[in-house]
Amino acid sequence: LMQLYVPLNFLGFTYLTLNQGLIDMEQMFSLLRVNQEVKDTPGALELERHGAPAEVSFEDVHFAYNPDRQILKGVSFTAAPGQKIAIVGPTGSGKSTISRLLFRFYDATEGRVLVDGHDVRDYTQNSLRAAIGVVPQDTVLFNDTIFYNIAYGRPGATVEEIEHAAKLAQVHDFIVSLPQGYKTKVGERGLKLSGGEKQRVAIARTILKNPRILILDEATSALDTHTEQEISAALRDVAHDRTTLVIAHRLSTVTDADEILVLREGLIVERGTHAALLAQNGVYAGMWAAQVELDDASPAIADVAE
Ligand code: ADP
Repeated sequence: LMQLYVPLNFLGFTYLTLNQGLIDMEQMFSLLRVNQEVKDTPGALELERHGAPAEVSFEDVHFAYNPDRQILKGVSFTAAPGQKIAIVGPTGSGKSTISRLLFRFYDATEGRVLVDGHDVRDYTQNSLRAAIGVVPQDTVLFNDTIFYNIAYGRPGATVEEIEHAAKLAQVHDFIVSLPQGYKTKVGERGLKLSGGEKQRVAIARTILKNPRILILDEATSALDTHTEQEISAALRDVAHDRTTLVIAHRLSTVTDADEILVLREGLIVERGTHAALLAQNGVYAGMWAAQVELDDASPAIADVAE
């Protein structure tokens, strides 16, 4: 049970943590109990947690949080083992909902979500969630040491394993530069880490967890270019040899995806590689043109701000 790492904002519970300013295991599990909408079937299968990347498939998936409002209206795609699938589209189009269904916080109302050819409903929730790593938009840290916060990815990990993960996540040098190193307390009552540092802690946790499937929920808030590049490099390393689903806010990070799904109001309106979608000159090409314009404009905005 301790292996269950669930980013709170992924559940949509960030507001609770903001109000209380304290996060601990009990709260984590009481939150989980709140969301016990799904149950294991008797004799449920154990999904392999580590090892070869998994195959992930959505088959005509429909979903509604409330019966009066359909959120996903027939979503189908397949990520072959090791592939990177990116989901792009406006806020509210259903991108995060897709990742929540894969993690099985909710069950599809119609259609199926499959991992390695079996419906996610056939697996134990613990094994399914242990096989999926999530790097959330905004990582919630425990009021504890940096060591604890990374070790949470795999309780019982050795110091060497934790330092190795921190090095891969490019956060080790930062940690050892602190007077108390890995023993530095972080979180609400400790050292406040920047968005980029928190994200690197989340990446280190995920490296330790070593899941077969990775969900990357890209940060919406702008990180400086240098931090952004470092994080992209760290994420590329973690995604290597894992089936990856990227919920993308910046198109620059999806150009290497095996397939990009363009979501609009719960429907995939375009799909293909970056090059194929640009050639198609449709919705994605329009989004790309708008983003390039924005990126070109931002240095000028920064200059004015100074
Ligand atoms: P995206 O990730 O593309 O921004 P989401 O998948 O988060 O979109 O949300 C899709 C739609 O579902 C939005 O209109 C959102 O308001 C709604 N929604 C998300 N979570 C819930 C929830 N827990 N209860 C009800 N509606 C929700």
